[in-house]
Amino acid sequence: SKWDVLAAPRDPILAIHQAYQQDPSPLAVNVSVGAYRDAGGNVHEFRAVRDARLSIAASSTYDHAYLPISGLEHLASQSARLIYGDDVFESGRVACLHTVSGSCALRLALSLASRVLGAEEAHVSLPAWPNHVQMVPMEALKLARYRYYDYDRHAVDIDGMLADLGKAKRGDVVLLQACAHNPSGADLKEREWRRVADVVQQRRLVPVFDMAYQELASGDMEEDVCAVRTFVRKGINVIVAQSFSKNLGLYNSRVGTVSVCVADKVPGRDTATNLLSQLSWLVRGMYSSPPAHGALIAAKVMGDDTLRAKWLLEIKEVVGRIGKMRERLRDELERRKVAGHWKHITQTKGMFVLLGLTYSQVERMRVLHHIYLTGNSRINIAGLNENNVAQVAEAIAEVVQ
Ligand code: PMP
Repeated sequence: SKWDVLAAPRDPILAIHQAYQQDPSPLAVNVSVGAYRDAGGNVHEFRAVRDARLSIAASSTYDHAYLPISGLEHLASQSARLIYGDDVFESGRVACLHTVSGSCALRLALSLASRVLGAEEAHVSLPAWPNHVQMVPMEALKLARYRYYDYDRHAVDIDGMLADLGKAKRGDVVLLQACAHNPSGADLKEREWRRVADVVQQRRLVPVFDMAYQELASGDMEEDVCAVRTFVRKGINVIVAQSFSKNLGLYNSRVGTVSVCVADKVPGRDTATNLLSQLSWLVRGMYSSPPAHGALIAAKVMGDDTLRAKWLLEIKEVVGRIGKMRERLRDELERRKVAGHWKHITQTKGMFVLLGLTYSQVERMRVLHHIYLTGNSRINIAGLNENNVAQVAEAIAEVVQ
């Protein structure tokens, strides 16, 4: 019978997380899922987010009425300002709507490219966040891969990337991660982004930026969005999927935006408004309208000067702790003279680093040492703290010897 189906493949990251949850060992360490944990190992609530949450809960105007299809306008405008800057936002060239987190923003970005702009193929980095690979065919796009990370040099393979994108067809989508590349933590420098922008412009590709970690790479909002702004300054139309899961710690509230910035205004046409209506039409057929609670919190934090300052400062603390744990891990490995390349642990950005272990070494980390990292040896640095960093280094030393 057609109902007698095989099980769908398990999500490679969430499956490891589940295995961790089922491990009764007090030694178990979770460095799989990309959520920030504080020095005590707890999922973190930003102080500004807590303040906003409490004030919203106490508000007499809080209700459960539907939001419009395009979501909370105040969140969308704050997000667009964060991405493009006030000038570009106010120039009327941006369409932005609030979505069900970064994941739906990505689906909508791909859907717009495929159904409205007529793209046929989407180019995804090698390696990538696995969900990119899964989403592309779901939006009726053919999947292509471009070289991104050089496993031998532990750095971005810019020449490979440019060569592969140079072969893309006019109108193809190229999916780019704006900062803190998942899984490698290796980002392009600004001058490398300019070279990618040249290729995108020459070949008339449709760039879709996935930005799930704004400010979490460098600790600076503007620096982390330099890729997008480089493209916009060059006059390239861009689509951006923005997530507030990580930089506001709103994971289960599902807050994000999808936006399009067009370079030229066509006389007599309101292209940005038309794009907004196309995106709204896609939303209507997908989930109708987004949930409000987390968006109200995010918009309040970003729209209130005091809360915003508190938030930006606190992310800098978070980035500082991640940087410190990167140094600690590298130091623990080098001190033990563990064979391998560990410099890139402090040279990459954001929460992730690819350790460069084999699949069986990763398995040994899990089975023998109760340390849960993904099969490609991606480790979430934010899962490390003073209580477990030496234990993790010791386990790496044991599996590579
Ligand atoms: N893109 C990347 C690269 C991510 O790592 C994530 C979260 N793991 C997302 C998008 C989307 O996250 P969310 O749906 O929670 O916004």
